[in-house]
Amino acid sequence: MRTTTKATLAFCLLFGLASEARADTCDTIRNTEPAVKQSFWCAQPWIDFYWDAYDFDKGDWDDGFGWEAACDLRRPLARTFQAIQLVNYASPNEAIQTSDFGGNILRWGGNYTIREFDELDARCGDGAKRAHTVWGTFIDNYTELYIPFFYNENVVERAGTLIHEARHADWCGHSGNDGSNACPAKSASCDEKYLDGCSGFASPSGRGAAGYQVLWLWWYAFEADAQHSSSTMKDFARDEANRILNTMFDVDPCFNITSNGGKITTC
Ligand SMILES: [Zn+2]
Repeated sequence: MRTTTKATLAFCLLFGLASEARADTCDTIRNTEPAVKQSFWCAQPWIDFYWDAYDFDKGDWDDGFGWEAACDLRRPLARTFQAIQLVNYASPNEAIQTSDFGGNILRWGGNYTIREFDELDARCGDGAKRAHTVWGTFIDNYTELYIPFFYNENVVERAGTLIHEARHADWCGHSGNDGSNACPAKSASCDEKYLDGCSGFASPSGRGAAGYQVLWLWWYAFEADAQHSSSTMKDFARDEANRILNTMFDVDPCFNITSNGGKITTC
């Protein structure tokens, strides 16, 4: 059931309330991770491939955001690439072509983000929101990532947020926090049900952004390969999935997951 408030939000999402903050207006270096950590994602051919695949632009990622130092994990760009690596390679049976959507979401989630994101931009944001996606006809479509995404989320959470925003970029808006059964978080980012969470003009059916995020985190906990996970990272996936399951659906999904991808019935 849609409410006036939600219709207004959908309108804003559809027609865009873009942040105009410039990349150089916020202090972007916030953590103490090593300046350069040699990893797969910071090899030049890989950076070139994903720079194009996600339509990064220099003007959206320079001025301290990392264009000048793509491997510097203190900067937003490298921290985004780190999450992109998980999204594309954590499956033990990873897809080798971007057109491959076979298997589970851990396998095709990366290809889904590549297909759905129109462009990925870095912005300061308001200090609270992690990311925002604008979609619709006759307007510029884009996804903005903000300071809390870069620095308040661990890499597993960042990967889950990319999956969440990609679902928005597929024209799926949130359907929850309405009526008599508002979600525990009382947030506009809630969905109605775990298996049914999209709303808005021309939206797809089925799982919404929160449902996609949980499903990816669940598969990550269940079978992410050793090269792209650790027990700590699987704990991160469990905690993030359970936070969403327990607070972001109007209808309680009645389960939580364990750090190895098990399922616990909660009601
Ligand atoms: Zn959302």
